[in-house]
Amino acid sequence: MSRLTGRTALVTGGSRGIGKGIALRLAREGALTAVHYGSNEQAAKETVAEIEAAGGAAFAVGAELGVPGDAAALWAAFDAGLAEYSAEYSAERDVEPGLDILVNNAGITAYGQTGEVAEADYDRVFAVNVRAPFFVVQQGLGRLRDGGRIVNISSGVTRIAFPVITAYSMTKGALDAFTLTLAQQLGARGITVNAVAPGLVLTDINPQLADPEERAKAAKLSVFDRVGEPADIADVVAFLASADGRWVTGQVLDATGGSFLGM
Ligand code: NAP
Repeated sequence: MSRLTGRTALVTGGSRGIGKGIALRLAREGALTAVHYGSNEQAAKETVAEIEAAGGAAFAVGAELGVPGDAAALWAAFDAGLAEYSAEYSAERDVEPGLDILVNNAGITAYGQTGEVAEADYDRVFAVNVRAPFFVVQQGLGRLRDGGRIVNISSGVTRIAFPVITAYSMTKGALDAFTLTLAQQLGARGITVNAVAPGLVLTDINPQLADPEERAKAAKLSVFDRVGEPADIADVVAFLASADGRWVTGQVLDATGGSFLGM
């Protein structure tokens, strides 16, 4: 039996990039996986199809984050998707309402040093990267079963200074603080809360990495002389999501491939 058989997971931003890697991995471990997207429904459908082709179970959940009412919209879409899935596959699988694993992964970046960031861009990156996960958790706690898991996708930029993405870095610092306090709050329910902090990963958020020269430069940041792949992050999340991760909570796990270790 796979490690997550019988579990239900929701991965925000599970349609593309790191979130897609996490969704594929959790589904491969047996979790029924809700693949959330904001605007690109096609990408979510393709991820669901990929999971199903590999013998896994998944459904898509659409909700734009970073706008008023986003968390309520996300949970309404999740509840509806789960109910639809249960009705369609009732002969094969018993699915209870609610979930066991919540991965807050959806996020955007915001470029600019302190003097360059416009108020609207600052507000937007905080709305998507901080406000949304906060209220997604707040409104999801009644659905999250005891013994569950919350994993927040942070970033190595809380440890390594990149002034060109100051506001973005601040959002991930806020997420780390949320991880710590939430872990304390939810311990009594046996729920672990952790953050995973990737370094540079090959996804659409880093279009500059399509340039081989830029990619070679970025690879040098890691002691392994390569940039990360979504699976490098997904494997860490899968550990935290499994029973093996039961004694780890309130932590930020560095998954930067040893970036800037010697600095
Ligand atoms: P990505 O390839 O750009 O994918 C972003 C995902 O989030 C997509 O599924 C997207 O769905 C969803 N999303 C973005 N904005 C949204 C919004 N407003 N509402 C709803 N969904 C939204 O990004 P990624 O590189 O995989 O990043 C995933 C997470 O890892 C982020 O939190 C990021 O900060 C973090 N991270 C990334 C790196 C890296 O180098 N890639 C490094 C450190 C941390 P739609 O396409 O439908 O909008």
